Amino acid sequence: MWRNLLAQRLDQQHRQCLWRQRKVLSPLSGHRLGDGRDSLCDFAGNDYLGLAHDRRLSEAQAEGARCYGAGGGASHLVSGHLEPHHRLETALAELTGRPRALLFSTGYMANLGTLQLLGAGGAQIFQDRLNHASLLDGARLSEARSRRYHHRDHNDLERLLARSASDFSRLVVSDGVFSMDGDVADIASLAATCQRHNACLMIDDAHGIGVLGEQGSGCVGRRFDSEQVPVLVGTLGKALGSAGAFVAGDELLIDALTQFARPYIYTTAQPPGVACASLRALEILEQEPERRAQLQDNIAYWRDNAKTLGIPLMTSTTPIQPVMLGDTQRVILWSDMLREHGFLVGAIREPTVPKGQARLRITISAAHERRQIDALLETLHGLAKKAGLSRDTQVLP
Ligand SMILES: *Cc1c(COP(=O)(O)O)cnc(C)c1O
Repeated sequence: MWRNLLAQRLDQQHRQCLWRQRKVLSPLSGHRLGDGRDSLCDFAGNDYLGLAHDRRLSEAQAEGARCYGAGGGASHLVSGHLEPHHRLETALAELTGRPRALLFSTGYMANLGTLQLLGAGGAQIFQDRLNHASLLDGARLSEARSRRYHHRDHNDLERLLARSASDFSRLVVSDGVFSMDGDVADIASLAATCQRHNACLMIDDAHGIGVLGEQGSGCVGRRFDSEQVPVLVGTLGKALGSAGAFVAGDELLIDALTQFARPYIYTTAQPPGVACASLRALEILEQEPERRAQLQDNIAYWRDNAKTLGIPLMTSTTPIQPVMLGDTQRVILWSDMLREHGFLVGAIREPTVPKGQARLRITISAAHERRQIDALLETLHGLAKKAGLSRDTQVLP
């Protein structure tokens, strides 16, 4: 019975062009990946500062493993909370200008744990429609009543808040940088709306940490204090090139997460070497601001030249530069053709993005060379010309 059901679902997945496939890759120099046959230039990953394959991080990780062991050995509350974890929490609190930070094994778990905590006791959760899947799943886990407002539409949010009962706590949740669109939430406006309605604001800045703001502190970072944005989530596996995540906020929030967040309590601490790699990444972030400057240069270069060539852009100033194609089959076709030309880009389809908004998710890194960017632009230009796609015919929502 269950086999039939699964087989049916898999079959449907195939027929709708939604089949997801892993590629076995090995990193090469120059922001490239080998697939056993070809060398592909990586325009798909989230390694925005080129730190994931930096020798200094892998050496810090190896040294951490030698000193503290390959694994944490237990959860943080039992005996797995080791010295590098603790130092990393202090450094993350400092980076984000918050009193404290709590380390989680992944961003997915940080969001599950935080929403499970804050959604308890009859709370209501209000989320941007385009929030990351882990935030949607966290709201489900919390059993809170959950509403979604139109993307970046604060009038819609305002309307939902005004209509909701205020005798329970209310939590507004948004991505900082939207992971599939690359646009940035208007934090000042969200904070003001939340203050007007006495709601708590939670921002998931997975793609902003290391990239945006003063010293890479993110789109919230030191610009908004923990009165304005009481709950800040960041991840370490994207711009910072290692793995893990954190929640930053005041003493009360961190104490409550430590006591009650099940995805924090019931899991083994992340390997201490990984925390050492993250610490090294934070040092490099501070000492080498030129990486962030190079990233911004590359993004501007990409946008300027794409515009000139008539490649349709979205309104993103971040490293996430999607090319919206709309149709699922076209996205698959284009990403296959790009691969033939030696480029790896994300082919993003439903349910990750809404139906009819399939897109190539192209990401820019400080590690890209100009000639690599030029080559991808040329190839895309060729594809767009063949498909009769131009700025004027772009398929936008
Ligand atoms: C990647 C991502 C996460 C999950 O982080 P992981 O550490 O990869 O589990 C959470 N939120 C957003 C917005 C993300 O883009």
